[in-house]
Amino acid sequence: MRHGRPALSVAHTRCLIVGPSWVGDMIMAQSLFMALRERNPGLEIDVLAPAWTAPLLARMPEVHAALDLPIGHGELDLKARRRIARELRAHHYAQAIVLPNSLKSALIPWFARIPRRTGFRGEQRYGLLNDLRRLDKARLPRTVQRFVALAMPKNHLPALEDCPRPQLRTDPQAGRVARARLGLEDPRPALGLCPGAEFGPAKRWPSAHYAAVARYYRSRGWQIWVFGSQNDFEVAEAVCRDAGPDCTNLAGRTTLGEAIDLMAQTAAVVSNDSGLMHVAAALDRPLVAVYGSSDPGFTPPLSPTARIERLGLACSPCFQRECPLKHLDCLHGLHPDRIVRALDSLLDATA
Ligand code: SF4
Repeated sequence: MRHGRPALSVAHTRCLIVGPSWVGDMIMAQSLFMALRERNPGLEIDVLAPAWTAPLLARMPEVHAALDLPIGHGELDLKARRRIARELRAHHYAQAIVLPNSLKSALIPWFARIPRRTGFRGEQRYGLLNDLRRLDKARLPRTVQRFVALAMPKNHLPALEDCPRPQLRTDPQAGRVARARLGLEDPRPALGLCPGAEFGPAKRWPSAHYAAVARYYRSRGWQIWVFGSQNDFEVAEAVCRDAGPDCTNLAGRTTLGEAIDLMAQTAAVVSNDSGLMHVAAALDRPLVAVYGSSDPGFTPPLSPTARIERLGLACSPCFQRECPLKHLDCLHGLHPDRIVRALDSLLDATA
């Protein structure tokens, strides 16, 4: 246990976390799990979240069990929530911490009669939560601080440096198996590119810019691995087409677990502000993170080997999924040379 920190507000052995449904947010939630376990080493943390998050949770040693929440994003499905809550009663959780701010996300802990139910006020959750916190956005500007604050007594608002940094555990053998399956046994250093962003096009640096970065590192003898989900296949394909040989499109061809184990074997990563950016940060990869419509002050990559690149236009951050001005200058104007310079200097510094 570290000294000089307030005692944890949890003084029992089993805790249920209602987890977020975004990759990046789930990685930042690991800081909460670490903060809880740092202060209560015997605490068992179970995380209730959609099944696709299981490979992420399996790589977080602080998590005791990943519990499937088989309810679609935005669905209420009271019957399913009551059934899950009945099953959870047998676990005798002493506390639930609810990370999403919706009213429905607080229902299962309430139906499950978990005695202490912690979360931010969100959508009128009085009664459903009985350890309600007021969100002070000025003193808790970052998502990770907000999550970690829920492990603390009410009046303690953690600074960024009080938040443990997410660190995903990886499986090198599984990474080797994935490389063999995908024909990636070439031993040359690999640059990982993540040109997708589930949120929308206003977070996506142009594929032509990614391809220019790929050509530069290819000319230095590297190979290129382009990561993403099935939804990112087209943009990843455009990068590979434009970049030339030695560029492999992995979008939609890996499980999330394989993507993590493969990314752990890259020499460096360039990514949009996306879930995979947080994966790269939690793997301590040398990382250049490209920001457009979003704000790095809110969800920065939590890694000392990450650099943020953005133009900081007057209109930025607008937090929009698509550019309301129709030009996307915040990303089109961010020249690939600038990203290469940032990554080269990072590689020099971390060599
Ligand atoms: S309004 Fe500005 S910050 Fe927002 S997407 Fe367009 S160029 Fe980017």
